Amino acid sequence: MAASRIVIENCAIATVDADDTEYPSGHVVVAGNRIESVGAGPAPRDLADVARRIDGTGHLATPGLVNTHHHFYQWITRGLAQDANLFDWLVALYPTWSRIDERMVHAAAQGSLAMMARGGVTTAMDHHYVYPKGSGDLSGTIIGAAAEMGVRFTLARGSMDRGASDGGLPPDFAVETLEGALAATEQTVDHHHDPSFDAMTQVAVAPCSPFSISTELLRQGAELARRKGVRLHTHGSETVEEEKFCHELFGMGPTDYFESTGWLGEDVWMAHCVHMNDSDIAAFARTGTGVAHCPSSNARLAAGIARVPDMLAAGVPVGLGVDGTASNESGELHTELRNALLINRLGSHRERALTVRQALRLGTHGGARVLGRAEQIGSLEPGKLADLVLWKLDGIGHASIADPVAALVLGPAAPVTLSLVNGEPVVEDGRLTTVDEETIARRTRDEARRLARIAAMG
Ligand SMILES: [Zn+2]
Repeated sequence: MAASRIVIENCAIATVDADDTEYPSGHVVVAGNRIESVGAGPAPRDLADVARRIDGTGHLATPGLVNTHHHFYQWITRGLAQDANLFDWLVALYPTWSRIDERMVHAAAQGSLAMMARGGVTTAMDHHYVYPKGSGDLSGTIIGAAAEMGVRFTLARGSMDRGASDGGLPPDFAVETLEGALAATEQTVDHHHDPSFDAMTQVAVAPCSPFSISTELLRQGAELARRKGVRLHTHGSETVEEEKFCHELFGMGPTDYFESTGWLGEDVWMAHCVHMNDSDIAAFARTGTGVAHCPSSNARLAAGIARVPDMLAAGVPVGLGVDGTASNESGELHTELRNALLINRLGSHRERALTVRQALRLGTHGGARVLGRAEQIGSLEPGKLADLVLWKLDGIGHASIADPVAALVLGPAAPVTLSLVNGEPVVEDGRLTTVDEETIARRTRDEARRLARIAAMG
């Protein structure tokens, strides 16, 4: 039996393919979970099995947004340590974070996922690294929340084994043992990672950051990921304090330290990469190591400005990330297109700063590349998975801008009329179709209050 079709037509289209092909008025035909055709003008009239025909007048169709760095659990610890830099902020929040349980993590994952899906994210990721003893199956809980919402998902199974008594930043009761972390990560890969083209769930090996993990966890984590054929993720070169920490403990900067432990390569992507010199950028380009650029979080924690234009010029794969919502606060990815462009123009390389089309590419194809899924998602091309967004641009916020890509990137956050993931609607007319938004809002408020109460008891 032929797969039923969804036809979208009369909209502007930014395909984000290799040539940046755009159509002022075009069509996209979806058959089952794949894109069947994309082109100028209306779709052919004689298509069979058309279940739905959508008039996209006044809209822009783009690939779905791909988020490459996040910490879902932070949805219930927002608005805290408001004026701190990274290290002070971490020290202030670790004791609260180490009290999380399954119910809290599920509510926080729902809140994080809902906020992103409503804003056009079709592939989400969560770097989860806080696994307190006796807290239950947190990885399974997070993966379950993404499946309920219907978004494509990568769980970066994080870990920390360098507590304060070993010179690390997290308190001892928030960390796992080296052996425990590796065994649990391997189990998560075995249970949940799907290597197929259409995969809705993938797993990456993701020790947290140099100042919360042992060198051995990095080394053995890389071995584990390569043995299993999954990707590697961590935080890197986020702040000057981290750079100083690496020089003091390891006698080298973060990039050289990562390279010495097997952590540069085409199967690796790192969040932030703010403090990179020319030779660090060259090492990332040479090895194909990817970057999750998180402009709002870097601004919120006063970390600095990543050299994204230089990375792109060198050929480094770069995607966008919201980062955890305790440092991003809003949890939206579509506003990061705008923030990436604006913040990079404040940097010292503004003559080569980002264009609106480069910003859209970072949030779509760039993210897909960083997650190792550029063959399957990240652009609107026949044969790729049907993950796409129809942005409403004929309202008061956007109607006066002639260039639809400029309207999307530079204008206010555009409403999402339709978001398809794997050919299935996840957003219709700005509302989530798979879950109840009011229930999620109530649950996140209740769980945030419960966590604050438990943390206050010490
Ligand atoms: Zn992060």
